[in-house]
Amino acid sequence: MGKKTILVTGGSGFLGSFLCERLLEKGNSVICVDNFYTGAKRNIFHLMDNKNFELVRHDVTFPLYIQCDAIFNLACPASPIHYQRDPVQTVKTCVHGAINMLGLAKRLRVPILQASTSEVYGDPAVHPQVESYWGNVNPIGVRSCYDEGKRCAETLFSCYRMQCGMNTKIVRIFNTYGPRMHPNDGRVVSNFVLQALRNKDITIYGDGSQTRSFCYCTDLIEGLIRMMDTPPEVSGPVNIGNPGEFTIRELAELAIELTSSRSKIIYKPLPSDDPKQRKPDISKAKELLSWQPTIPLREGLQKTIAYFDNLLKEDPEFCE
Ligand code: NAD
Ligand code: UDP
Repeated sequence: MGKKTILVTGGSGFLGSFLCERLLEKGNSVICVDNFYTGAKRNIFHLMDNKNFELVRHDVTFPLYIQCDAIFNLACPASPIHYQRDPVQTVKTCVHGAINMLGLAKRLRVPILQASTSEVYGDPAVHPQVESYWGNVNPIGVRSCYDEGKRCAETLFSCYRMQCGMNTKIVRIFNTYGPRMHPNDGRVVSNFVLQALRNKDITIYGDGSQTRSFCYCTDLIEGLIRMMDTPPEVSGPVNIGNPGEFTIRELAELAIELTSSRSKIIYKPLPSDDPKQRKPDISKAKELLSWQPTIPLREGLQKTIAYFDNLLKEDPEFCE
């Protein structure tokens, strides 16, 4: 991408803030649109003085009229606790948000990228997950507001492409972690790291044999930018994630080891529809984007631990 004005929805969230930062570093101007549902000003505070950065408080479920050269659509709560807090709003953000941003991209004739998710595969019967797999999703379960919302957003992206000839791109993001995750979002990495740092019980849901594949945030951002840079005929979906697969129990043990914690592991009930396994097949990302992750879990966890350790000292109230 040359020097452009780029709209990032959800730009004050965990991933959005890293994306804004990276796009600015590359010499672009960035318009960050966010309603602060789960995002935080502290994530983008360091960008506020940058003359090429602009923050717009706006809910993407309402139309937006703005000038830009490309759109990254990341606005959507991503952790199960957050997206289940107001499921109707989650569906609206996924669906109305996609329609509004696609409408904007259509009017401006600019490329638009959708931050989709491995959740479109549901509790997958195919392992590792390839993009051609259609998934196994409960349409009426507790996760469906997010899973089906994101699936409908993918449908909208492909309909606009087929019907209007637009340059749309879909990336399916697998579990991504790192600094700036919200301390209370209940995701497994932030939960385990904070519990370990405070020597509190580590809460494994179920027996801990379920697996996830964890991608470090900066690797993920590189994948998103490379996807946006592809020619118009490349639309995806493309999986972006780290194929290193770990059980949740292994993750708990690693968090304890890396923090030299006195925490004990305890077991709690598994939430319903919790996927048993997840691992991306990233052949497509390798082939189309020459992309693969560079930061292994141990290294990424160390950076994440350093961030939360500092946050606990700097702003303990934010972590309550
Ligand atoms: P996050 O909750 O930290 O960020 C989401 C951002 O969107 C927040 O700043 C929030 O305030 C904003 N937002 C929510 N609803 C909005 C609305 N209606 N209008 C405007 N802004 C709104 O989550 P994240 O982890 O940074 O995820 C970013 C995107 O990536 C999401 O679309 C998510 O579905 C996708 N994703 C993330 C992961 C992951 O592991 N982090 C995995 C798969 C997909
Ligand atoms: N999990 C857990 N303890 C926690 C938080 C999560 O055992 O304190 C489990 C959760 O049940 C799931 C996995 O960790 O099996 C990943 O959960 P997360 O909410 O991070 O993401 P997702 O389920 O959407 O992949």
